[in-house]
Amino acid sequence: MYAEVLVEYSAKSIDKTFTYIIPEILRKDIKVGMKVLVPFGSKKINGFVTKIVDNHNSSYELKEISSIIDKHFCLNDELMKLGSFLQSKTLCTKITAYQTMLPSSLKVKEQKTNYSKYLTYIKLNKSKAEVEEYINKYPRRIKQIDILKKLLLESKILKNTFSSATLNVLFNEKIICEEKEQIYRLNNHKIENNNITFTKEQQIALNSIDINSEDTYLLHGITGSGKTEVYIELIKRVVGQNKKAIMLVPEISLTAQIVNKFYSHFGDDVAIFHSGLSNGEKYDEYLKILRDEVHIVVGTRSAIFTPLTNLGIIIIDEEHSETFKQDSNPRYHALDMAEFRKKYNHIPIILGSATPSLESMARALKGVYKYIPMRKRAGTSVLPTVEIVDMSEEMKKRNTIFSSVLKSKILDRLIKKEQTILLLNRRGYSTVISCKACGFTYKCPYCDIALTYHKSSNNLRCHYCGYTIFKDDECPECHEKALTDYGLGTEKLELEIKKIFPEARTIRMDADTTRNKGAHEVIINKFRNHEYDILLGTQMISKGLNFPLVTLVGVINADSTLNIPDFRSGERTFALLSQVAGRAGRSELKGEVILQTFNPDNFTLKCVQEQDYMKFYNYEMNNRHKLDYPPYYYLTSIKIASKDYDLASKEIIKVKNYLAKNVSNDTIILGPTTASMFKINNIYRFQIILKYKRDSKLFNCLKELDEIYMLNNKVNIEIDNNPLQL
Ligand code: ADP
Ligand code: ZN
Repeated sequence: MYAEVLVEYSAKSIDKTFTYIIPEILRKDIKVGMKVLVPFGSKKINGFVTKIVDNHNSSYELKEISSIIDKHFCLNDELMKLGSFLQSKTLCTKITAYQTMLPSSLKVKEQKTNYSKYLTYIKLNKSKAEVEEYINKYPRRIKQIDILKKLLLESKILKNTFSSATLNVLFNEKIICEEKEQIYRLNNHKIENNNITFTKEQQIALNSIDINSEDTYLLHGITGSGKTEVYIELIKRVVGQNKKAIMLVPEISLTAQIVNKFYSHFGDDVAIFHSGLSNGEKYDEYLKILRDEVHIVVGTRSAIFTPLTNLGIIIIDEEHSETFKQDSNPRYHALDMAEFRKKYNHIPIILGSATPSLESMARALKGVYKYIPMRKRAGTSVLPTVEIVDMSEEMKKRNTIFSSVLKSKILDRLIKKEQTILLLNRRGYSTVISCKACGFTYKCPYCDIALTYHKSSNNLRCHYCGYTIFKDDECPECHEKALTDYGLGTEKLELEIKKIFPEARTIRMDADTTRNKGAHEVIINKFRNHEYDILLGTQMISKGLNFPLVTLVGVINADSTLNIPDFRSGERTFALLSQVAGRAGRSELKGEVILQTFNPDNFTLKCVQEQDYMKFYNYEMNNRHKLDYPPYYYLTSIKIASKDYDLASKEIIKVKNYLAKNVSNDTIILGPTTASMFKINNIYRFQIILKYKRDSKLFNCLKELDEIYMLNNKVNIEIDNNPLQL
């Protein structure tokens, strides 16, 4: 018997399988989808078995498979096929596809280390009579006798309860032995009583969703309408049929609330999956799924690859979130993967959002998705009022950061002992430091952008590559003491708040204050317990949080996302501001939202103010139609990246010529241009954008292009189908 094995032998490996002999001793265990160790050149490397055959036609002398890496782990038929699908969608190599589907503990290239966690127990190794005989024989061994007496009553006791010196006496005479028991790091969650009466809209939603169908539903529910309760009830029904569920959320570290809610309904029937877990925790959670011990997986993007068998439903919460698309190779979207699993298992998909992506809404209006609206908040809370403040007027009054109205409302909340959330979508202290005398600006030598100043550490950092330098007292160019900071970041905002409201207790949440494991939760819990009056931060604070005492949300600079030159910036701004506005007034207390802007007449902001999604949708769809953008057209971006500027600029022309000759006539080719992040980490990027409705030739063209550059060590090609950022 022979096995075809797919290996990863270099970063740019081509998709080729190699044939190996299956040695006699492995024959009964080996299966397609297993990871094996094989000799390759002078080394041994890991690979996946893709086929098992009786004969081979290789002219080389074949080698034997060395070992199976983990007998209990194997990509099942569904995941093997999903891997091929992932490959065809993103043009990655097959080995990359399979590696992407696994948690890092199982991905490791060399021999796996054991991630299992054990408790060690001691138990009797001899009969009761023999133990009693021992006790009588050595009456002076008081400590040992004590242990033996305990073990006669309890079958096993944790080993670390006793000193090893004491135990060794017993081990030496083989009267006791050790027993290891594997435990899970995340465990013992209690089911609580969660009885609620569904609102009318929740009931309608539940009645409209057929869990035995193969439909995709768009659950369009405003913030606080109670979508989570709908998901939970659907999953209960699915589990009632002994089927399983995947629930995807954008960033689990921020939605600890959701996870706790799931634990309280389902106890230990839930495995969770996100980047905030340690490798050991991830390994345990994966094992629970492989061993068929859980029905429910809650996790971020990559949880769509978890090997749940007998899947019954896939739910994607906050479906508009861009985190569902991976922004590095392979550039897949979790929804595409969900569609594959939906067809494989004949199950429904539920997409939930308060601000659905334009693509999803367009599909819902066309009838491709079934549309389910929820227009009211659950419980007694109502939507907040939203006020737009013109900052150019405020500037005349020398109010650069806080408008008078936002200032007075924050003060009002401090007096009433209610809480405030402030959004500023930029971390650091200031965005630019330049010299007033000569115009010098600190820039990253590797990337084409200005460095951000971080005052607490007195250094300047590149937010793309991490390059860091200390800030000088004087200008490094002209040596004048004229360095000045411009622009506002969260760090500076925090100091400003402390100046204006010295009595306020303020906490900041951004990438800088949440580096440590569990930091998000600490901040969120402290704020919820009212240890702080004001929570300020980047878009991190906008999602999924529910604080009953928050009655004021202020957006310091509503223009920051609006002014980014990308056709989706309006959509992003609408979603972000609607989300953050939805944090206000989540209880009986009425909420207010203040949007500070230099563009008070901006249509997107007006739609946020009126909280009118459909108005925004119609307006934005009209723009997209005029400019041939998605969802009317598909986009593909092709980037050529190289350390060598001249080479990259030559190659992108070649790519353009190739495309012009080979794609269909209706496909629009835009560019080449410099990519929006032109120089990052000393690598230059040029870009071509393709726009098309249908192009039967395109896939093969892209595949060929990809192969041309596959083995080129100087130039990389990055192909992104349906890119989220241009
Ligand atoms: P969404 O995900 O739609 O923003 P949530 O599911 O987080 O909304 O619900 C918002 C709040 O309303 C939560 O505090 C939740 O416990 C509460 N809630 C949801 N459904 C009901 C209901 N039927 N009755 C009372 N409270 C509810
Ligand atoms: Zn940089």
